[in-house]
Amino acid sequence: LGYVVPFDILNTALKKIENCNARYYGLETIQQAILQDNSWQIQLTNSNITAKLLVGADGADSIVRKLANIAATTVDYKQSAIISNIQIENNHKNTAYERFVANGAIAMLPFGNANTMKFVWSLDTNKAEKLLTYNDHDFLRLVQNEFGNKLGNLQDIGKRMLLPLKCTVATQLVGNRAVLIGNAANAMHPIAAQGLNLGLRDVASLAELLHNSFDAGDSELLNKYAAWRYDDHKIINKLTHILTKDFRGRDSMMTMLDLIPSAKKYFTKRACGLNNNLPKLSLGIAL
Ligand SMILES: Cc1cc2nc3c(=O)[nH]c(=O)nc-3n(C[C@H](O)[C@H](O)[C@H](O)COP(=O)(O)OP(=O)(O)OC[C@H]3O[C@@H](n4cnc5c(N)ncnc54)[C@H](O)[C@@H]3O)c2cc1C
Repeated sequence: LGYVVPFDILNTALKKIENCNARYYGLETIQQAILQDNSWQIQLTNSNITAKLLVGADGADSIVRKLANIAATTVDYKQSAIISNIQIENNHKNTAYERFVANGAIAMLPFGNANTMKFVWSLDTNKAEKLLTYNDHDFLRLVQNEFGNKLGNLQDIGKRMLLPLKCTVATQLVGNRAVLIGNAANAMHPIAAQGLNLGLRDVASLAELLHNSFDAGDSELLNKYAAWRYDDHKIINKLTHILTKDFRGRDSMMTMLDLIPSAKKYFTKRACGLNNNLPKLSLGIAL
């Protein structure tokens, strides 16, 4: 689980890469890219770039993935997330919460001031659509009943939006002078709160391999990245999938974890992103 960072703050932070001898192209989008003579000729909205390596960090519907001819498979869970901002009575103390309830899972993620959180309720789409028709007062009362009093009284809720939940996984992590990271590689259901964490380990691994590399798009280097990241992606995907397949499956899994401490320990360790093959940046070691 994590803190939700508003887009403008993220964008301002990203601009600072210009202090590191890099160019920031802001909100320009990639329009087209062609691989010619071992270099990508990339056309952005207002600029052109030449690059030895194209990194797809452009989310679940990645254009880079398509340009690199990497296929993807999609599973539609027929579930949706109701997302909104919620005002709570208690200070959230920068702590994220998730409660598994009969109708899915309710997550509260720190966002903005001490009494504002992002509210995410994942549940079957037909039920979610019905809950959208409730007025704010009735909806808030229902959420309070389901979530409990951990954060005090739930005081106000903003506009509710519905996000269909799917899982889109690339069939491979690398192509010719192209590599996928984050959701472009593996966009998962948010129930296990793993997507960003997995993506950060992608970034850390790729950065470590690229550090001091002679040719960033070298196929040997990219294959090392794919081999390094394979297990982490596969295992996290599987654990997430078990929780999401259906909510009955989730309950059986939770019971099983309670009964088998070694399995619970393994699950918790993996969900915390701990494995024996972590990149340096994930361990806080500079490159
Ligand atoms: C409701 C919800 C709750 C979540 N909670 C958690 C959590 O608690 N913990 C966790 O680890 N993960 C969580 N996740 C998952 C996490 O949000 C994602 O895994 C993460 O945001 C993926 O980051 P990304 O940069 O790879 O992709 P994205 O966040 O999708 O970003 C892709 C970016 O690429 C840009 N882009 C797209 N196309 C182009 C183009 N053609 N040219 C240029 N740019 C382009 C987009 O505008 C976007 O800015 C949650 C997800 C959801 C939906």
